[in-house]
Amino acid sequence: MLSLWRKIRRTGRVAEPAPPRPAGPPLGAGASAGLAGSVQVRHVDAGSCNGCEVEIGSAFGPVYDADRYGARLVASPRHADALLVTGPVTRNMAEPLRRTYDATPAPRLVVAVGDCARDCGVFAGAYGVAGAVSDVVPVDLEIPGCPPRPEAIVEGLRKMTGR
Ligand code: SF4
Repeated sequence: MLSLWRKIRRTGRVAEPAPPRPAGPPLGAGASAGLAGSVQVRHVDAGSCNGCEVEIGSAFGPVYDADRYGARLVASPRHADALLVTGPVTRNMAEPLRRTYDATPAPRLVVAVGDCARDCGVFAGAYGVAGAVSDVVPVDLEIPGCPPRPEAIVEGLRKMTGR
């Protein structure tokens, strides 16, 4: 136990220094000022290759540490303020995505993470793809990239929390 404590002390803080806060009012502030400061996020994989999930994992890991800006992943859409959706929406995931959106209490925000979520990316035209996220549910923010860098994901989350 003591050696673990020494190791923690030796390692210190590993998080990247905080970049400047994104300009402008927090996303969704017009709909509800209550979302600002702390946003509970439900992640939905609508058909991703998993590349975007790796970067989301990094964004919430100790180096980029999205939690320090007030963003927190939750396990149920009923506990969420926002949905973080990845991948092109496959035919099998279109209805679950719609239901997840309906299960999220209003006012709710939807963030399309990655090029596939924005416009189907490399999977455009594939037989199993129903469309982009905005073809299924309303989208409030898009984060480009294939996959987006963790810094871009954190910046998108900060646009919601306003921190
Ligand atoms: S944007 Fe790139 S990394 Fe993300 S799901 Fe599509 S192909 Fe995979």
